[in-house]
Amino acid sequence: MENKLEKIKEKGLQKIEKVSILSELDEVRKELLGKKSEISDVLKSMSNLSIDDKKKIGMLATDIKNIFSNKMTEKEEQLISSMSVLEGPIDFTVPGKKVNGGALHPITQMKYDLDDAFLSLGFEVYSEDDISSEKYAFDNLNFAKNHPARQSMDTYWLEGTEDKEGSERLCLRPHLTGGSVRYLLEHGAPARFVYPGRVYRNETTDARHERAFFQYEALIVDKDISFSSGMVMIQTILEKVFGRKINVRMREGFFPFTEPGYEIDMECLVCGGKGCKVCNHNGWIEVMPGGVIHPNVLKAAGLDSNEWTGFYINIGLDRLVMMRYGVDDVRLFHSSDLRFIMQFK
Ligand SMILES: [Zn+2]
Repeated sequence: MENKLEKIKEKGLQKIEKVSILSELDEVRKELLGKKSEISDVLKSMSNLSIDDKKKIGMLATDIKNIFSNKMTEKEEQLISSMSVLEGPIDFTVPGKKVNGGALHPITQMKYDLDDAFLSLGFEVYSEDDISSEKYAFDNLNFAKNHPARQSMDTYWLEGTEDKEGSERLCLRPHLTGGSVRYLLEHGAPARFVYPGRVYRNETTDARHERAFFQYEALIVDKDISFSSGMVMIQTILEKVFGRKINVRMREGFFPFTEPGYEIDMECLVCGGKGCKVCNHNGWIEVMPGGVIHPNVLKAAGLDSNEWTGFYINIGLDRLVMMRYGVDDVRLFHSSDLRFIMQFK
């Protein structure tokens, strides 16, 4: 019987040694230490032996069980430490899993690029709420009392404030310019800052117009701002954003908050100046109204117009993005159509 146990021990140790994966080790454990193991069979067949022999064989069997158990623990540790994270062999021909990452909307990307361009010229980035008031959207900016832009056809007035006036009559901001006076009242002059954001107009949408769109306005206020320095600034910004020289032209324009005012056009990059539906078939696209800040606006901002002067530019963010990618319909950018948006990743 002792010989039999010795053989079981030798055979068992060899089996443990041959094991190469964890699941196999579980099988071997059942086989060597389970109820149906050979050692159990030996112990069950001891009924004819003397008490001393029973004791001796019993102790020997327990020793062998312990040896098996220790050996298997050792084997288990060895297998775990050499285990690979891959199950089975690698098939290099299986197509990879696509990693889905987010990306910036092209308008957001353009805003960031403009921020970088202006920050490099020493500007501050300022922001204010989307809800404004008649005072900031119109009164401060030298809009006449009966100016058509104040009417409900152009401006979204907030329900419940229609019969009020000035700072109590609330609206979704129809342009960003109101923020310029707010900034100047808070910070004073001299100042150079940009204030990007979404603006709202109650108008019919077409390829160039949307009810809500992004603007990007910049203002410099200082004691001696010449018209030519404003022009150089515009060219520098466009060059930084498009990475090359862009043809621009200036036309006279009228805005209540400027004196004089300008329309700044850039050559249409969708058609290369030949004419298309984006540029209304004339090769140029109006991207930046601007001009010298009106003395009444300076007054509303608490500044002396004899001492201070300033230069506005208001960049049509959507239009610049249309130019950058040659997209001919502004509505696509707000369409939430992923087939369109995903092209800009
Ligand atoms: Zn064009």
